[in-house]
Order: sequence, then structure tokens, then C-alpha cells
Amino acid sequence: MTPAITSIAQQPGRPSPGQEPPRVNLLGLSLRQMEQFFLDMGEKKFRAQQVLKWIHHAGVTDIEQMTNLGKVLREKLGDIAEVRPPEIVSEHDSSDGTRKWVIRVDGGGLIESVLIPEAGRATLCVSSQVGCSLDCSFCSTGKQGFQRDLSAAEIIGQVWLAIKSYDAFQPGNGRIVTNVVMMGMGEPLLNFDNVVAAMDLMLEDLAYGLSKRKVTLSTSGVVPALDRLAKVSEVSLAVSLHAPNDELRSQLVPINRKYPIAVLLESCRNYIDAQSDKKRVVTVEYTLIAGINDQREHARELAVLLRDFPCKINLIPFNTFDQSGYQRPSGNAVSRFWQILVDAGYIVTVRTTRGDDINAACGQLVGQVVDRTRRSERYRAAAETQVIEVR
Ligand code: SAH
Ligand code: SF4
Repeated sequence: MTPAITSIAQQPGRPSPGQEPPRVNLLGLSLRQMEQFFLDMGEKKFRAQQVLKWIHHAGVTDIEQMTNLGKVLREKLGDIAEVRPPEIVSEHDSSDGTRKWVIRVDGGGLIESVLIPEAGRATLCVSSQVGCSLDCSFCSTGKQGFQRDLSAAEIIGQVWLAIKSYDAFQPGNGRIVTNVVMMGMGEPLLNFDNVVAAMDLMLEDLAYGLSKRKVTLSTSGVVPALDRLAKVSEVSLAVSLHAPNDELRSQLVPINRKYPIAVLLESCRNYIDAQSDKKRVVTVEYTLIAGINDQREHARELAVLLRDFPCKINLIPFNTFDQSGYQRPSGNAVSRFWQILVDAGYIVTVRTTRGDDINAACGQLVGQVVDRTRRSERYRAAAETQVIEVR
């Protein structure tokens, strides 16, 4: 299902000099929303397909260049709509091929996207909010507090900018983004409509045409929204577990107090069961923090907890940032944890750090982010986007 057309109004448009109403940013409209938009204009709905292709296949932002629309329609469209990607503040290339963009969104907030090339694929890590309200104890984004949701245009705009940055809208330049993970700043399920609209565009053939297996939403466990997602989306699911029991998880991931592990795993299972592809599994993310959740007994407890749960496990050695108060475990501790799970029959990967020289790796510090919460003043030095690499 596509989100209601009302979400178009939520997209911040550029304030026009003459106090006219803000223009609709066509960049963030899914096919259904774009069709409705043209119908509301008194136009034929096939125009939506033409415009989607101009924006997402050809990378065109100037409505005047959309030549198959006809002059009159172009003028009419130009009066009420625009195609406006967010603004790149800086671009950073790592020696290992990782590229990071710092992006400014309306209102001045900064977000990051990171593209991680690997053999045969390139994964873009996309943000869904400026900051995050959920305050997980090990997360630098959480320390910033919540500023605002990104619009659908700002979310899909990160994909658009990455492709543009490699000049890959040019025919013959190949596909630069093959996978997307919603693992940048923010909790995607707390920005439901805009994230779903943006993910629809990722999957839409008239836009980016990615396979639903190659778009992954990561959540810390907003159960009612996950139940809702099962009805409207078939993207891959990753869940941030980080602890094998409620007592520990509630310390690390405060939303666990509201939706404890059993409820969360049940919701994940329902999500998987609702998919047409019955072979799918949930990726369980487990950030390993030295002395906190990385002991043998934690691994054994996790192995028992996840027995019969359709999953693979991704271990993420904690990425330190100033004043986090936590340490990354040693390589030995990570291997020990991994081995216990492998011996218990799980498929387990360990996320490696990439883009070190440009601070692009998960949880690292870069630049300065405006910090609007009193609580996070304590963490001002650490207030920065965290980005994630997925294996
Ligand atoms: N809000 C969503 C998605 C963004 S966070 C979520 O929590 O799932 C993406 C992943 O990075 C999550 O698994 C999160 O727990 C993990 N993460 C956050 N900070 C980290 C850090 N400093 N080191 C390692 N992993 C971290
Ligand atoms: Fe928010 Fe995810 Fe960070 Fe938790 S880990 S504070 S949910 S971004």
C-alpha cells in the first residue's frame, strides 16, 4: 500500500519569495502519489510515469527539460511543483572506496549517507530522521536527541544524490547503488509514511527498481509500526537486539521496556510470515560492547533465545565515540562470541569497519551537528551521525 496522499503536504517545500504556497517536491512522491497529484491537477495519470522516469532514471530536476510533457503542462507544473534534492555540504572519499556525503536538509539539520562498494555490489546507508528520540545507550545519534523526521524527498534524495555524485544517471554508466540499508541516523519506523514512500520508490521500476531483498529496514523494535509494515511492505528486515534478555536489553535499548524481546520477536516472525517469499529470514543485529553484552554466557543465552527463530546474526563490534563510556571488545572476544553461535548452528557474520580515514564507519565522529537538546549537551563532542556498514 502507498501512504495516503496527505503525506505530500508534510513535505517541506521551498518558501517562495512572494508568500505563495510551498511547491510540492516531486522527488519524494511514489508512483501512486504522483498519479494522484496529476489527477488532482486535472491531468492524465500516465504523466506520473513520465515524470518519475525523468527524475529517477534521468536525474533531471529542471521541469523545463521534461520535454515529453508539453510546454503548457511544464509551465503549469513549474508553478506548483519542483524537484529539489537535499544539499550536499561535503563529500569524502576513503582509500577503501567508501564515499560519504554530509547533507544539509531544510531547517539546517545535517545528515549523512555512506556508499560502501564491495565485490559486485554497493550498499548505500540511508538516514530517516535528524537525530533520534530512542536514546540507545551506545548510539551517538541517540545522544543528539530528536530534531525532526526527514521527508520522503529527503530520504530518497540520498539515493538520488549518490547516483548523481557518480554521474551514474548517464546512460551506460551502470548501476552505482545496488543495495540500500535504512541504517543511518534515526529510527525508520518512527517516520513511517515517509520511509514507506521512499522505499516504494527504491523498489519501483520507474524509479530505482531494486529488489525487495536488497532494501533493508533496521529497527530497534517499534512493534506496532512493524506490525503495520508487514501489511504494506516486503523489504528485508533487520532488528537491533543487542542483548539476550530483557533486563540487559532495557538498559541498552530503552524502547525494550515498552516492547520486550518476546513481543518483538513475535512481531518479526509475523513480518516474515506475511511475506510472499517464504525463504526469508530476519537479520539480528548485535552490537558487541566490551564487558557489557559480549561474554560467553550472553552468547549461550542468545543461542537459546533464537532457537527456532528464522534469522541470521550480524555481530557489530562497538564503534567508540567520545564520552560513550563503552569500549569495543577485543578481536578474541568477538571471535569467541561468534564461535559459540556458529557451533550452535547459526549463520553469523561480523561487520567490519570501512571508511576509517573519512570517519565513515559505524558510530564514528565527523563534523559538527547542531545539537538542540539539553541532555545531549553532555555529548556535544560526540554529537555526530553514525553510519553503518552491512555485510
Ligand atoms: N534506528 C535503527 C537504525 C539505525 S541504527 C536501529 O536502531 O536499528 C543502525 C544499527 O547501528 C543498529 O543496529 C544500531 O544498534 C547500531 N549502532 C548504533 N550505534 C552504534 C555504535 N556506536 N557501534 C556499533 N553499532 C551501533
Ligand atoms: Fe535511534 Fe537506532 Fe540509535 Fe537507537 S540505535 S538511538 S533507535 S538510531
